[in-house]
Amino acid sequence: MSDLILFWHRRDLRTSDNTGLIAAKEQTRKVVGIFCLDPNILESDDIAPVRVTYMIGCLQALQKSYVEAGSQLLILHGNPTQVIPQMAAALTAKGVFWNWDVEPYSQKRDTVIVDALKEKGIEFLDRNWDQILNVPDEIRTGTGSQYTVYSPFWKNWSTKPKAKPVPKLEDISGLTAAEMQIAQANGAIALPSAKDLGFIWDGDLVIEPGEVAALERLEEFAATGINSYQEDRNFPAVDGTSRLSAALKFGVIGIRTVWQATLEAMENSRSDETTAAIRTWQQEIAWREFYQHAMYNFPELAEGAFRETFKNFPWESNDEYYQAWCEGRTGYPIVDAAMRQMNELGWMHNRCRMIVASFFTKDLLLDPRLGEKYFMQKLIDGDLSANNGGWQWSASSGMDPKPVRIFNPASQAQKFDAEGEYIRQWVPELRSVDTGDLLTGNITPLERDALGYPQPIVDHKIQQRIFKDKYQQRKGVI
Ligand code: FAD
Repeated sequence: MSDLILFWHRRDLRTSDNTGLIAAKEQTRKVVGIFCLDPNILESDDIAPVRVTYMIGCLQALQKSYVEAGSQLLILHGNPTQVIPQMAAALTAKGVFWNWDVEPYSQKRDTVIVDALKEKGIEFLDRNWDQILNVPDEIRTGTGSQYTVYSPFWKNWSTKPKAKPVPKLEDISGLTAAEMQIAQANGAIALPSAKDLGFIWDGDLVIEPGEVAALERLEEFAATGINSYQEDRNFPAVDGTSRLSAALKFGVIGIRTVWQATLEAMENSRSDETTAAIRTWQQEIAWREFYQHAMYNFPELAEGAFRETFKNFPWESNDEYYQAWCEGRTGYPIVDAAMRQMNELGWMHNRCRMIVASFFTKDLLLDPRLGEKYFMQKLIDGDLSANNGGWQWSASSGMDPKPVRIFNPASQAQKFDAEGEYIRQWVPELRSVDTGDLLTGNITPLERDALGYPQPIVDHKIQQRIFKDKYQQRKGVI
């Protein structure tokens, strides 16, 4: 057996602030990265071409980081439960290390791999937390159970100590030419493009791929945007949020590095307003963490509603509504603007994610799982825990619920897009409409026809009544 450790990257496409990778380095200088293109994921119907494009760009950058550090990143394509142990055995690696993930699929897969490695007598480091700041067991209620409501979670979580970033991987050694040949004979391939894998994305990316770009984005946001986050974050026409979500989803930036940046911004804060703004951004990081803990503690969330009332809820089935929503043709300007933004950019502003998810469930009365899936098929940052959490929050079926939270698209637009800037950007056929009417959607049928803009597919007032009736009936049953 050699002194080689393979480090298996999954949601940690970086060499700085990576706890599992540093644990490998502490054991040996000979650390080689590995990434597996998993057909179980790539061939599922939850994949967005934009996300694969971003991921491939991040892998290119990661390969470069490995070369700079003195080693290599191997790319495999196949079922990880087979190809990872096979590669480790072929290279007579002493160990395979990785960081743990909260998602049910990952945990099942990892258990199989652990067994295969054990059988071959290869060391492993599996239950290493890296992508969250505090592990689920640390954050418990007074009675020792898991939180199902965000506010008390935040109260507890925010008082717990958080680790500092760990050093960047440097000065390692990689495979020899002969070992590289063995790796190639056992499935190591050149990194394919997203197109090679069948994913076409010709648009721009909201964030440049790779660790360097993510760190630069964080630095810029922590120096400027974070100070006005409280004020700006709710307005979709304003570039007022960090746009770090894809980097955080793929672990292109370490969460400890992100937290450290918020602490430094706090130290530099000169006013109560900026301190409050930084605190608010920290709370968003805590939402991410809350949903990851939730997915870990309650893996059944991935399958459907958390609250009893919403299990077997009589959602309607209407393909016409579904298609109109997907394509941004509902006749509700703010909803259509948001859906078109996502279809074109692969990213949607958080305020709008809440508006369109509420519209999907409370106006179109469609099953949230369908909307959740469509988001996964479009978003650059599509992430099981955050997306599921956001959809269940909007559908009122999940944690921290208000029984019947319903967003009125017109008042949301009046409040958060008061000048109609966002709507005009994404729904160009409505550019000439008076702002007041644009926001309320008070556009006559004739005018809509003339502008080539659809009639509203449903009546918000009627639909919210139907939803409330369904909810009351369902509540009566259970
Ligand atoms: P910022 O406002 O700068 O926030 C910083 C970071 O905090 C984000 O990058 C993200 O990692 C985290 N964060 C912020 N808000 C939330 C939240 N409500 N829940 C969980 N994490 C949060 N986020 C995803 O990363 N992936 C998803 O698939 C996803 N789907 C969503 C679906 C719905 C229906 C809703 C309502 C929200 C969803 N979110 C999702 C959360 C949120 O909309 C995005 O994280 C945010 O818009 C990303 O932009 P940003 O990076 O500029 O965020």
